[in-house]
Amino acid sequence: MTKYTKKEITKLIKAEAKRLGFLDCGISQIEKLDSEETYLKEWLQKGFNAQMDYMGNNFEKRINPILLVPNAESVISVSINYFPGNITYKENQLKISKYALGRDYHKLMKKKLKQLFGYIEFLHPQIDGRFFVDSAPVLDKAWAEKSGLGWKGKHGLIINKDKGSFFFIGEIISNIKLEYDQPVASFCGSCTLCIDACPTQAITEPYSVDANKCISYQTIENKELIPESIINNIQNYLFGCDICQDVCPWNKKSVITHINDFGSRKDILELSLSDYENMNEETFNNTFNGTPIKRAGYQKIIQTLQQIKKSP
Ligand code: SF4
Ligand code: SF4
Repeated sequence: MTKYTKKEITKLIKAEAKRLGFLDCGISQIEKLDSEETYLKEWLQKGFNAQMDYMGNNFEKRINPILLVPNAESVISVSINYFPGNITYKENQLKISKYALGRDYHKLMKKKLKQLFGYIEFLHPQIDGRFFVDSAPVLDKAWAEKSGLGWKGKHGLIINKDKGSFFFIGEIISNIKLEYDQPVASFCGSCTLCIDACPTQAITEPYSVDANKCISYQTIENKELIPESIINNIQNYLFGCDICQDVCPWNKKSVITHINDFGSRKDILELSLSDYENMNEETFNNTFNGTPIKRAGYQKIIQTLQQIKKSP
């Protein structure tokens, strides 16, 4: 049994999350995600998941996490800031998404979630649950939204009014009842800056991104050749794309991360086309060791590079 009240545990968990370096922590009651069910079904039916077949797997668990964690009562959502600062590119410089200019976040996030889980276990030894970092069928953005971490922007990402959108999300789903946060209002209003700025028209309508057209998907996930219509508008992005986030007015609020693992590899931006061309698989792996770029793999990066080289 725990000696703490629900209110006390909730407060202690949030304080510990802050101490561990999370940007934010919000909590919501577990429930079936009915509105996301409709949205996800339509999105999959339109084929907007491209080759990401896994998005359609475990559909029931995705919309109903009680099937994933039996006896679940709450979802603790946390975010972690990776903003490395604004980047100004020179003409012809190869671009890399900001999140990739440091160490892969999965390990760090998992470590911190494990620490948070351990702390909750200390407060409430009867806890049973799991933590997730992009690793199971959990609709992390939906939970982050429900937990009040921010609202879903028209580009599909979570935005916080005071902190912008350059953060990663993770969650703990457990059997303990806590005090719950409320979703926050959307502040997108009549803004369409992200939709207008997307060079490939991947944001087909507000809140809906077609991965087939998204530079981020094409340069990271798609192992095949990038279609010509995308390459012609790729704007020198070799890995990922930040355009829709960079134009979002709420990202003027972003502050540079204090987490050393993130933003620590801005040297990558100095690599020229010929630097990449002179790499073999071994030097590529050494250069990008520990970064998300290594996960894309040598073949993919070199293939994209060749395609960018031939683009107008
Ligand atoms: S990441 Fe780039 S390509 Fe994808 S929706 Fe945003 S602006 Fe468009
Ligand atoms: S750019 Fe405008 S519409 Fe797009 S997410 Fe930001 S506030 Fe919302």
